[in-house]
Amino acid sequence: MKIKSIFQKLFKQLSVSLVHYECILCHQSAQSALCIFCQDALAKEALTNKRKIIKVQGETIFIYSFNHYDGNTKKLLSMFKYNKNHLAGKALASYFYQTCQQQHALSDIDLILPVPSHRLRYLYRGFNQAEILAKSLYDHDRNHYDARALIKARYTRPQAKSNYTQRQTQLHGTIAQRHVIVSKHLLIVDDVITTGATIQAMIKTLLNNPNNKIDRISVASLCRA
Ligand SMILES: [Zn+2]
Repeated sequence: MKIKSIFQKLFKQLSVSLVHYECILCHQSAQSALCIFCQDALAKEALTNKRKIIKVQGETIFIYSFNHYDGNTKKLLSMFKYNKNHLAGKALASYFYQTCQQQHALSDIDLILPVPSHRLRYLYRGFNQAEILAKSLYDHDRNHYDARALIKARYTRPQAKSNYTQRQTQLHGTIAQRHVIVSKHLLIVDDVITTGATIQAMIKTLLNNPNNKIDRISVASLCRA
């Protein structure tokens, strides 16, 4: 028994020293996907004005965006989205989770919905980055996570390639709801908010369904472009 516990202790120490990462941004040795210096740099890209208020059909919606779409934030997002670097996704999800925890107004969230991606884009990319961020907030004691409630019914061009007016026209009627939603405080999660048109289309879909019972809607995004 004693020998067994000595071996267990030894093995534990060995495995701790064997877990060694190389920072995915600066390639120095690190404890996780990002070294402490790059984690620090990511935190310094935070927006001073994180909260924006918009009105959708008379409802007041708080939109929280945490970082500038620039520097390490932008680099990590493109590594994740376009190069499918899942360590970058993990690092962003952990940063997103920590930053959300600091927002007292988001402490009573009971339902989390990621911004849906069209199934063609999902097939092409293999994942939806908003889902990865949204999942980081899921805590089965406090809230629910639902990636199936809303779907993107029509393929739209990436936001960067179309202007605001085009975007509004394209998005009309593209978000469909699959089942009734009941929530006291619902949180919509996205990676980058550009024009906010997708978010508004989602909120309109939610508000226009008479069977939904939603008291409050907020939005959280990793960054604002
Ligand atoms: Zn680094």
